[in-house]
Order: sequence, then C-alpha cells, then structure tokens
Amino acid sequence: MAEGGWIGLASDPEYGGMGLPITLNIAVNEMLSAGCLALQLNSLLTQGQIDALEHHASDAIKALYLPKLNSGEWSGTMNLTEPQAGSDVGALTSRAERAEDGTYRITGQKIFITWGDSDVTQNVCHLVLARLPDGGAGTRGISLFMVPKYLPDADGNLGEANSLRVVSLEHKLGIHGSPTCVMSFEGAKGWLVGTEHKGMAAMFTMMNSARLAVGAQGVGIAEAALQQAAAYAAERNQMGAIINHPDVRRMLATSRAEIFAARAICLACSTALDLARATGSADWAARGAFLTPIAKAHGTDVGCRVADAGVQIHGGMGFIEETGAAQYLRDVRITPIYEGTNGIQAMDLVGRKMADDGAVAVVLLDEILDNAKAAQAAHAELANQVWQAAETLREALHEVLAQEMTDRFAGAVPFLAAFARVLGAHYHLRAAMAGGADQVTLARIYITRVLPHFAADLAEAQAGFADLAQLGDAAFSGHFA
Ligand SMILES: Cc1cc2nc3c(=O)[nH]c(=O)nc-3n(C[C@H](O)[C@H](O)[C@H](O)COP(=O)(O)OP(=O)(O)OC[C@H]3O[C@@H](n4cnc5c(N)ncnc54)[C@H](O)[C@@H]3O)c2cc1C
Repeated sequence: MAEGGWIGLASDPEYGGMGLPITLNIAVNEMLSAGCLALQLNSLLTQGQIDALEHHASDAIKALYLPKLNSGEWSGTMNLTEPQAGSDVGALTSRAERAEDGTYRITGQKIFITWGDSDVTQNVCHLVLARLPDGGAGTRGISLFMVPKYLPDADGNLGEANSLRVVSLEHKLGIHGSPTCVMSFEGAKGWLVGTEHKGMAAMFTMMNSARLAVGAQGVGIAEAALQQAAAYAAERNQMGAIINHPDVRRMLATSRAEIFAARAICLACSTALDLARATGSADWAARGAFLTPIAKAHGTDVGCRVADAGVQIHGGMGFIEETGAAQYLRDVRITPIYEGTNGIQAMDLVGRKMADDGAVAVVLLDEILDNAKAAQAAHAELANQVWQAAETLREALHEVLAQEMTDRFAGAVPFLAAFARVLGAHYHLRAAMAGGADQVTLARIYITRVLPHFAADLAEAQAGFADLAQLGDAAFSGHFA
C-alpha cells in the first residue's frame, strides 16, 4: 500500500501527497476495506492524522512528520478514549505539562487504541488528547499533542524511545489483524498541535475525515460479503441453484440496492468536501458536514445488514468460520461503534447539524424534490414515490425541529435512517435517469422495497421520549409493575 502511494492519495503534494480528490480516496478506501478491514485501519488512521496535521500543526511538525506519514514509513494513531471517557471525551484525565524546552510531557492511560503499536512501520506517531494544568473542565480545556514512539531528530532520523508503552492487547469479536492497544504514557515527550486548550477542534478534523472513511468501510465490507454470497448462491444446489429461489434473490438484490445507495451517500459527502476544499464555499462545507454522520452511520448499518444477509445466504456454511462469511459480519460489527457510535452520529445530525433550523437539510430536500420532478417524464412511478417520500420527510423535519431536545434525541437514530433512505432513493433515481435497464431495475428494487421503511422510521422518530422514560428500569430484567 505504501509503495503504491495509496496512503498520501488525497494529501498535500508539498509534503509528498498526491493531491487527488477525497472522493477518489474514499472509493479506493472502500476497496481496501473490502480486501482487509483490519489492515486498512492502519492507513485510515494515518490519513486522518495527515489531515489534522495539514490543518492545525506548525510548519516544523508538518515538515518533519507529513512526508514520512504520506510515504507510509511512519503510521499515525488517534488517542482519545480512556476508561471513563468514551463518548464523553471531555471526561478525560490524561495530563500534559509544559517543559522548559517548549515541548510537553504527557502522562495518562488510553484504551482501545487502534494500531497503537506494530512493526509494520518504522515509527508510530500518536496524536494524544490531554489536559494542561490550567485547562478548564470538559472538552474546552483539552489540548492535542504529537507523541512519537521514537523521538526523531530534525531530519527524521529515529532516536531514543519515548516514555510510552503498550500495556495490553484487547481480544475482540473481529478485526483480529488490527492491534487494539491499552497505551500508557509515562511523562512522554510531546509537541503541541494547534493551540493550547483548543485540541478538540484539531481532533475533530481527524475524526470527521475518519467518520466518512468508516462509512466507506461499511460499504466495502458489504460489497465483499455480497460478492462472496452471490458466488456461493450460484454454485449451491438445493432443489435447484439457490440463486434462483425467490427469497435468496430478494436478499441478494436488496443487498445490491442498499450498497449502491450507501456508496452514493458516501461519495456525495466526499464530493461536497472536495468542492468545499476547491472553492472555499461555506455551503459545500456545510453540505459535507451534514452528510458526514449520515454517511458514517448508514454506511456501517448497511455493512452489518448485508454481512448478516451474507451469512444467511450461505445457510449452515455461513456459520462455519472457514467459509469466510462470518468474518465479514464479525469485522464489520465494530464500524457502528468506533469513531463515535451511530447513536452519537444521529444526535450530531439532529442537534448540531440541524441547529441552523434545518436550512442545510431543506436545501438538500429541495434538490431531491426538483430531481424527482425532472424524472417524471421518463420514470413517473418511481419519481412519484421519491417525491412523496421527500415531501413527507420535509414535513417531519419541521416537526422534529419543534421537539424538545430529549424527544429529538430519542428519535435521532430512526430520523437519520429515514433521511438516509430518502437520499438513497434520490441517488437511485438519478442513476436510473442516467443508466441502462439494470440500473432502472435496481432503482425500482430500492424504491419499492427499501425506501418504504422510511415511514416506519419517521413514526418512531416522532414518538418522543415519554413512553421510554416511563417504562421502569426493572422492566428490562422482566419485572413489570
Ligand atoms: C476495536 C476498537 C477500536 C477503537 N479504536 C480507537 C482509537 O483508535 N482511538 C480512540 O481514541 N478510541 C478508539 N476506540 C474507542 C471507540 O471510539 C469508543 O469505544 C466509542 O467511541 C464508544 O465509547 P465507549 O466504548 O466508551 O462507549 P460508551 O460511551 O460507554 O457508550 C455506550 C453506549 O451508550 C451510548 N451513549 C453514550 N453516551 C451517550 C449520550 N450522551 N447520549 C446517547 N447515547 C449515549 C452509546 O451510543 C453506546 O450505545 C476503539 C474501540 C474499539 C472497540
């Protein structure tokens, strides 16, 4: 991967990157994830770190680290999580102290650090969140530091080992090829990235880049799982080739349609980010920011659904490890959890990303409605269904915006799912307008079989929190009052 230049695909040519579009990188990352999710995590985190350094690091750090990260000689990690600080990053307790030479000393324990150590690369560069003594409580008082495993000189030659170590490796459900480390920083030497106490802003650059990339991981695993399931279905005979049985065909066809939609959402998100980067347009940046949690959560949900269908299509062989179908399901199951759980993504969507009174969402819905009108002549039936769905979603959007935040959060996950299905139908309709007969059939399969679930999602999105709160805690263990 490093020799082929795949790591620095979308990064700044001034520091050894290729300067190609983010969209191309997302498409390539999808394929690499399909090949091996565990290995691709190494380059994914390195790419996210490159993005954060390009935006926030000093020229000296950029000059020293970026060429080595782009070339793949060194790899990057992201150190946020601590035992008491997962979704609540602001609860972290890792400390930073100023040293006399302008560097910092980092002390604390981080958990779940992906590729926290390995001998795949010469150096492992940790971006670590920690709090300075005068850093306030919560996320506002956190700073970000570059803490390399080996201390480089100004020319990038590796010197002595830094004061940090791997305490243990986690045993996991999947991605067994990716070392997930408990890291201990013991007065380790670090360099500030960005400004003191503003580390979360810098880390968010890395996280947003990685969130979209994780959405593409979901799509990649789904693609690999479907290709394997389809090959098996063509060979396996039970009262005829199972690929011809209506239920098996339903699973294969809806999986293919879901993958197309999830991929289109990821690529629409990356295209918006590319346009923002190329033009400096705030509107494109806002579109990219709005689509990021949808791309992440929906892409990974589809990854899980399709990998699950892949096991089912294999029948009993799907449950047997050596078949390989089960590994896709085990590997993909982390994707709705890391980089901010899908629940957190959905809260980001209905909270921060709709804090503009839904303005960015409404512009997108208007585009969907206009496109459906334009598709009327050629594909009246499909266009009508997409138009109706978008109109219903627009009405629901205003109702959701009028809800109390707790009610909104209770419905955040189904609201995101509904939005994703309508977006998916929109991209299928556009593809039907541009493509051949199979593309029209695939659009019909999505619009008639997958899209209609959005109505159930919206019903749940508007159901509020009261009934959930009312059900006593004891009911979860089967004790009803
Ligand atoms: C294999 C693996 C690799 C990882 N790699 C990295 C890495 O490289 N670097 C790193 O820093 N971290 C990494 N993580 C950590 C990962 O990002 C966290 O596990 C994830 O963000 C969730 O945090 P948590 O595990 O503490 O769960 P919790 O925050 O305890 O969440 C538990 C449940 O509660 C929900 N929840 C929590 N808070 C809220 C809220 N306010 N509102 C609604 N629901 C809420 C969550 O959605 C979830 O369903 C990794 C984790 C794993 C398992």
